[in-house]
Amino acid sequence: MLETPAWAAPAAARPLAPYAIERREPQAHEVLIDILYCGVCHSDLHQIRDEWGKGIFPMVPGHEIVGQVAQVGSEVQRWQVGDTVGVGCFVDSCRQCAACRSGEEQFCSEGMSVTYNGYERTDGKLDPKRPTFGGYSTRITVDENYVLRVPEGIALERAAPLLCAGITTYSPLRRHGVKQGDRVAVVGLGGLGHMGVKLAKAMGAHVTVLSHSPGKHDGAMALGADDFLVTRDGKVFEEHAGRFDFILDTVSADHDYNAYLGLLRLDGVMVLVGMPGAQPLHARSLILPRRTLTGSLIGGIAETQEMLDFCAAHAVAADVEVIPIQAINEAYERMLRGDVKYRFVIDTASLRDDGHA
Ligand code: NAP
Ligand code: ZN
Ligand code: ZN
Repeated sequence: MLETPAWAAPAAARPLAPYAIERREPQAHEVLIDILYCGVCHSDLHQIRDEWGKGIFPMVPGHEIVGQVAQVGSEVQRWQVGDTVGVGCFVDSCRQCAACRSGEEQFCSEGMSVTYNGYERTDGKLDPKRPTFGGYSTRITVDENYVLRVPEGIALERAAPLLCAGITTYSPLRRHGVKQGDRVAVVGLGGLGHMGVKLAKAMGAHVTVLSHSPGKHDGAMALGADDFLVTRDGKVFEEHAGRFDFILDTVSADHDYNAYLGLLRLDGVMVLVGMPGAQPLHARSLILPRRTLTGSLIGGIAETQEMLDFCAAHAVAADVEVIPIQAINEAYERMLRGDVKYRFVIDTASLRDDGHA
């Protein structure tokens, strides 16, 4: 086993602190990755605070991982030492169910092995004795089939958030066929939202940001948005009723879905990717006129690779603020206040300097 420095939340809602974990030597089909950068997703915060149910503690968050292959198992064909790679929100799945076979491992009927706050597999089955630990650490051992290639040309710290924020916004835009000229609204300009703006623009859409933060206007326009509306002003919902073909809702906090649905045209689609708690929904918001409300969860391995290649081809990457791990607790507070443009990314050199190897 390889003793590895990490930072963990020791229990729900407690600050993160240094914590040593063990990574295994790569087995025949595994690679050991030296982690260089790891993005900070709002899902990390939801989970260390037990906002999605009881978590597994100590919890080492982090599922926007970029690094270099340090060691390969004896049977590994796809990767070589030195390759620049990524790991996203899951590190394994059953590989046999219909979802896994169709490349949508995130919907594995047996449950995916999420990168942290979940379990590794033993003989293909989730093993409660083997919790997963995420990317707020200096290395990780992962099956070769759950590793992504980071294309050349994207700065690594700007690539890390693509592994969750990028794929989570790319997948629904693609699935719902967003194309040239479509009127798209992105709700919430945080880590996911800013990727939604960039990706929808790269697909040719006319993009409006709907934000509850008036101060984000200039930032939204600088990202390439065509329009910016402040949702605190309730008049927006009347003035722009029926305007959009597609709405991507990335908001992490409680808000009124009914109001946003009113902004869709007949047969327009709103996709939820933000995951606050339960929100009321009125049937008439969908019925009059006919509208679709759906959700989306990250993306499969093949689609994540497609997204990375799309980003390289269109010069799309995240706007980031690189932090040392020692700033993580403050970064969470700032993320809650919306004080980040637009993703914190941990430089894991700071973990190596943390008094560990
Ligand atoms: P984030 O960076 O914190 O951004 C969330 C944004 O929501 C904020 O920037 C803010 O935008 C808006 N917001 C916050 N509080 C609000 C409030 N009280 N009322 C209205 N709007 C508010 O978070 P993120 O990392 O992008 O994640 C967003 C959500 O997506 C989280 O719930 C996360 O767990 C979820 N997520 C889902 C998936 C998936 O696969 N479905 C994957 C990753 C993350 P404005 O200031 O512009 O309003
Ligand atoms: Zn995430
Ligand atoms: Zn499966």
